[in-house]
Amino acid sequence: MNLTEIFNQENKREELRMPFPFKEYQGEEIKNTPTLDLTLTNIGKGKALVVGQTALDFTLSCDRCLKPVEQKVTLDFEREILAPEFLTDDDTKEDQHFVDEYELDIEALLMEELQMAWPTKILCDEECKGICKKCGANLNDGNCECDNFVPDVRLANLMDIFNAAQK
Ligand SMILES: [Zn+2]
Ligand SMILES: [Zn+2]
Repeated sequence: MNLTEIFNQENKREELRMPFPFKEYQGEEIKNTPTLDLTLTNIGKGKALVVGQTALDFTLSCDRCLKPVEQKVTLDFEREILAPEFLTDDDTKEDQHFVDEYELDIEALLMEELQMAWPTKILCDEECKGICKKCGANLNDGNCECDNFVPDVRLANLMDIFNAAQK
């Protein structure tokens, strides 16, 4: 998408509404058919504001028990971008790597926003007990027959450290 007018015409504003360009993210299917709202506004000489909104529905797996969890991922972003002649150093160039000269790469921008909005933890419930490491039973459905009792306090502490290190 070309940004020449947005960068050069004072108060130029463009509102766009388009189908979200991806069907999946990180191998996870997008369950709804989201619409992307994108507004580009000139906010000064060689300066533009990109505002975008969309909401994506995923079905992800609980980190502890693997049960499917309905997860909404909302994108709601505002990014200031500069025309190439105003990019002074490599850092600012890197910050807007989704802009190449006067071209906005919407897909690259969306990929970055998705990465930032992606949930770090997926739980079916804050209290999810997970699955038994021995028999694989879902402990939310009740205790299994396995002996998961840890007899020694020192061993229990060690296991906490071990489990934390695995995360
Ligand atoms: Zn769970
Ligand atoms: Zn078990």
